[in-house]
Amino acid sequence: MRRRAPGSVWALGLLSDMERPSRLSRETIPLTVLDISRPPVKAPAPPNLSGMTRAELAAALVAAGVVAPGKAKMRTSQIWGWMHHHGVTDFAAMSNIDKDTRAALGANFTLARPEIVERQVSNDGTRKWLIRMAPGIEVESVYIPDVGRAGALCVSSQVGCTLNCTFCHTGTQALVRNLTAAEIVAQVQVCRDDLEEWPSDKDDRRLSNIVFMGMGEPLYNLDGVADALDIISDNEGLAISRRRITVSTSGVVPQLGPLGERTNAMLAISLHATNDALRDELVPLNRKYNIETLMAGIRAYPGLSNARRVTFEYVMLKGINDSPAEARALVQLLKGIPAKINLIPFNPWPGSPYECSSWKTIEVFAAIVNKAGFASPIRTPRGRDILAACGQLKSESEKVRASARRKAPEPEAAPAAE
Ligand code: SAH
Ligand code: SF4
Repeated sequence: MRRRAPGSVWALGLLSDMERPSRLSRETIPLTVLDISRPPVKAPAPPNLSGMTRAELAAALVAAGVVAPGKAKMRTSQIWGWMHHHGVTDFAAMSNIDKDTRAALGANFTLARPEIVERQVSNDGTRKWLIRMAPGIEVESVYIPDVGRAGALCVSSQVGCTLNCTFCHTGTQALVRNLTAAEIVAQVQVCRDDLEEWPSDKDDRRLSNIVFMGMGEPLYNLDGVADALDIISDNEGLAISRRRITVSTSGVVPQLGPLGERTNAMLAISLHATNDALRDELVPLNRKYNIETLMAGIRAYPGLSNARRVTFEYVMLKGINDSPAEARALVQLLKGIPAKINLIPFNPWPGSPYECSSWKTIEVFAAIVNKAGFASPIRTPRGRDILAACGQLKSESEKVRASARRKAPEPEAAPAAE
């Protein structure tokens, strides 16, 4: 008899009738060994079409032999409309595509949405989703009503962040990876599903704006962000105009020009301080690209005009950056730049080293910049009951789930790998 391999099991039950001998004994049974010491080899998931650019989609259809090269443009356009205008997740619904092609599409591709791990709705209408893109790749997106034309979706561009801004909870989490364009687009699709806003041209739609102000630094993922913008802004699809898509950066100066040229998106800069000593501390990236370099990069941003202003984000930190003198310094710094200023009340998180400025202090600060001619709305805290505010994304869910894990019994040890 052959010796049993380490980590393997006898698998009598797995023998088919054809192979099964009449007398079941170890001596006569052909040896079939199921080795569970290695992870099972999974069939690769079929490619998902719903996050591809038009060019990728056409290429994928032809490469799979589903569509002839001569028909690729027409089919791409049809499928595009079904996916991004109608929001369908089933090829069978694509009624203007013949049955055989639909069957071939279904056999080769998928349109599945990622899994929604958690969904929360605040009493002020803010909605937050924790979305699992892949094992261990979870991101949060937040829909905030009454922002922009109707309502804005705050999307994440990375899982975690490499930059350690001292007031930001995301900055305390290591970067896991960049999100793909498909994963960024999926956040928009999930929101539109939840708001039931298909088809995309629905009147009075509530999702009108996109802001890249979730987790991560979008300019460290420019390829993913630029492709996602192409998909999200396509007029025959999700149709969110580039003028309603804002990309926020902590100041990756060399990428500002490429961002403008490739995406034509609206720009937001997380400034938070008016002198290098303080900005070095709050936004450590300032040590690489100081305020002077940053301002020069912003002045050169393609398409800047009074109709396309830069938004400067300024988080209000008690006793750190909120004095009237700093408000005046801010006005000086932004002179001549078509700008608006977004004052963000600091959102504290457990262990954060700062406090939020008082409402009175924020109002005094806002009055100074307003008087100088800059629109300076104070961002009303939204979705606080579901921890959906800036800088809190993901972290709280991680905490809650970590505590749930602590309470749960330990899983049985997996077989050791050889
Ligand atoms: N990484 C990019 C975009 C994501 S952060 C950036 O830094 O611009 C989006 C905005 O939230 C930034 O302006 C950031 O400074 C702000 N923010 C981060 N943590 C915050 C907190 N705890 N309270 C208020 N605003 C915060
Ligand atoms: Fe990263 Fe932006 Fe947070 Fe800074 S503020 S750590 S850049 S996500």
